[in-house]
Amino acid sequence: MAFKDLRAFLASLEEKGQLVRIDAEVDPVHEIAAYLRKSTDMGDKGPALLFENVKGHKVQVVGGLYANRRVMLQALETTDDEANAKYLAAIDKLKEHTLVDKGPCNEVVLLGDDIDLSAFPFPTYCELDGGPYVTLGVSISKDPEDGGKNASIYRHQVLDKRRIGVLSPPPHHLGIHYKKAEALGQPLEIAIALGTAPCALIATQWEAGYGVDEMMLAGAFLDESMEVVKCQTVDLEVPASAEIIIEGKMIPDERHHEGPFGEYTGYYTRASDKPFLEVTAITHRQDPILLAGMSGVPTTDNHVLKMIPMEASCFAMLKKKFAGISRVHFHGSGGVGLTCIVAMRQFAKNEARQVLATLLGAQGSKLAIVVDDDIDIQDMDKVMWAVCTRVRPDRDTMILPKMTLWQLDPSAPDDDSYSVMGIDATRPFGEDFEKVATVPGVDKVPDF
Ligand code: MN
Repeated sequence: MAFKDLRAFLASLEEKGQLVRIDAEVDPVHEIAAYLRKSTDMGDKGPALLFENVKGHKVQVVGGLYANRRVMLQALETTDDEANAKYLAAIDKLKEHTLVDKGPCNEVVLLGDDIDLSAFPFPTYCELDGGPYVTLGVSISKDPEDGGKNASIYRHQVLDKRRIGVLSPPPHHLGIHYKKAEALGQPLEIAIALGTAPCALIATQWEAGYGVDEMMLAGAFLDESMEVVKCQTVDLEVPASAEIIIEGKMIPDERHHEGPFGEYTGYYTRASDKPFLEVTAITHRQDPILLAGMSGVPTTDNHVLKMIPMEASCFAMLKKKFAGISRVHFHGSGGVGLTCIVAMRQFAKNEARQVLATLLGAQGSKLAIVVDDDIDIQDMDKVMWAVCTRVRPDRDTMILPKMTLWQLDPSAPDDDSYSVMGIDATRPFGEDFEKVATVPGVDKVPDF
C-alpha cells in the first residue's frame, strides 16, 4: 500500500538516511531554493531537505521529494523494472473517494481577516522570479457546466496576502473550467491541496481525458478509497490528509501581473497579465509542513514527477503497435517529454524508424532516439555510445520539418518551420555487426 500521507513518506526517507534536517536559519527568498538546487544537482545522491528554521516563519518547509528518480520510485514504492506495470495496473482500478467529516487538513481553519498567505514561507526560487510560488499544489476544480473534475499541478505565484496567480491556459483542464465560468459570468471555485500523499501528487500527472478525476488514480495506488473532506467556502472536496488547503475563487474577466518564472525549460518565461484567485479560506494541520518543489534547469521535481506517468503511457501506446519495445525513458534534458529514448528489439526492417516517426508525431517529442535493447536507456553514457558507434548520420537521422511548435522552446523560429529530430541508433536489421566487448561473470560479483 502506498504512503497514506506526506509524513509517512518523510518518515520512510528519514529512516533510510535520505532526509536531511536543516536547522540553520534559511530565508525563503532564494536561500531555500539554493539548498534545493544543490541537492537536485547531486542527482540520485541528493537527499530530501527539511527546513526546520525558516526566517520569519514558524512553518517548516520540505523539498527535494521528487527531485530524482530514486526518490520518485520510492514515493510510488516501486522499482524501474515494475514502474510501468504498476502505473498501468492502477489506471485499470480507479477508486472513488470516501467523504469524511473532518481530516488533518482542516484542523485549523482561517477565514476572513485571518487569511494571510505571507504567514506561509512559500519560496522564491530563481533569481528573476516575480515573487514566491506555490509549485507542488494539487489544484482542484470542476467544470461549471457538467461538474466534471480536474486535479493537476499548475504554476501559482503568491501575489499578495490574499491573491494567487494562475497559469493554466486551455487546453489545460483548469483553463477550460475558467473559460467556461467566464462565459457564464461566474467565478470559478478552486482549491489547492499542498503536501498531499505522494500518490495524489503523482496521480495529477496522469494524462487523463477531460472530465476524468485524476484523484481516483491516487485511490488506486492507495488500494483503498482516498478520504476527502468538503471545503469550508467552496463546493469542492480535497484530500483529507493534506498539510495545507488554499480555497478561493478565480474572478472572471480580471487579470493580474504574473511572472517572470524560471520554467521547466531552464529559462524564464516573461511576466504578463494572467487570471488569479482570491483566497476565501486557508485550512491546515496543527503544525503544517509546506511542500516546496524546484523547477528550472533540468533535472528537478518538475521533470521527475512526469517521468513515470509519461513513460508508462507512452510504453502502452508503442507496445500496441511494436511488439519488441522493452523500455521507454523521458530524459530530463527534454524538460517534460521533449527528449524520448526507446529500447527495442526489431522484428522487421526499418521498424525503429517507424517508432521514431511515432515519437516525433503522436508523442510530440523534439528529440527521439531508438536503441537496441542491450542499452540501458537511463544511462546517457550508454545511449550516446550507441549513437556514436551504431549511427551513420546520413542514413540514420530523421528530421521532420513543419511540425507543431513546442511553445516554450527558446530556439523555436518565428515562422511555421519548427522541426524535430529522430536518431535510429539500432544496429542495422538482419546484418552482421561488431560484437560488443564484455567481461564475463560481472553478475556473479558480490555487492560491495
Ligand atoms: Mn484533468
